[in-house]
Amino acid sequence: MLNALFEFSAVAFYCCADYLALGLGCYSVVYLVIETRFAKISGKAASLRQMWREIRVSLFASAVGTGGVVFLVGRVFHRSYFAGITDPRNNPHGIAYSIVTIAAAFLFFDLFFYLSHRFVFHSTVFYRRVHYVHHQFGAPTPWARCAFSWIEQALYTLFGLIPSLLIPMNLRDLWISFFFVGLAGLYQHLGYEIAPRAFLSSQLPKVLTTPTHHALHHNDGNSNFSLLINYDYFFRCQNPRYEVELEKAIMLRGAGTFTAHV
Ligand SMILES: [Zn+2]
Ligand SMILES: [Zn+2]
Repeated sequence: MLNALFEFSAVAFYCCADYLALGLGCYSVVYLVIETRFAKISGKAASLRQMWREIRVSLFASAVGTGGVVFLVGRVFHRSYFAGITDPRNNPHGIAYSIVTIAAAFLFFDLFFYLSHRFVFHSTVFYRRVHYVHHQFGAPTPWARCAFSWIEQALYTLFGLIPSLLIPMNLRDLWISFFFVGLAGLYQHLGYEIAPRAFLSSQLPKVLTTPTHHALHHNDGNSNFSLLINYDYFFRCQNPRYEVELEKAIMLRGAGTFTAHV
């Protein structure tokens, strides 16, 4: 029993440290580099009070939701999700296999995120009881990356772990795919539009999301459910204002405070 408690505490601590490290790295880049060149999507700076709330909600979700699921899945399937990550013998299939499995795990999660976000968490029952926690932040910052109910965070974590149970995937690669999911979450909640101007004249807005895309979702929860691949465009669920707002956000870059009305 004591052993289990110690193991859970270690896993929960790691999950919180991971959230804080990525958040701090992104926050530094946003407020030292991006803020000086790009305009805030919402037009107003987030208060310290809001960021503190985002951090508190995220830490609880990371410890209980992520930590709890990693711990329980590890117990049920008799594997530690931390042991041997740095051991080179942990990668018997070579670098090409690693790249394919990391990409597959990320894309699997990306699709799951879209489907569950749109059809489960925005259903009447789940929105009122679970997903509203995330939508209390109308103009989120990167600290809102994990600002979900612990139940929602647990379900995302469970699906993030599934590839490692279905295919021979070494643990280091699993954590790398989690790292990219984390980066995608930070990108969604960046609060600044960083897509280059060339993005507008290409086909990329139909394929990939942008921070403006997710900012519109926080403003109007009936559209723009995607993480990185723009499934909303394919399934005709994209906010009708998106293209105009994205163009404004990109073209008015460096003009000061105004960008999209989200
Ligand atoms: Zn969000
Ligand atoms: Zn939502």
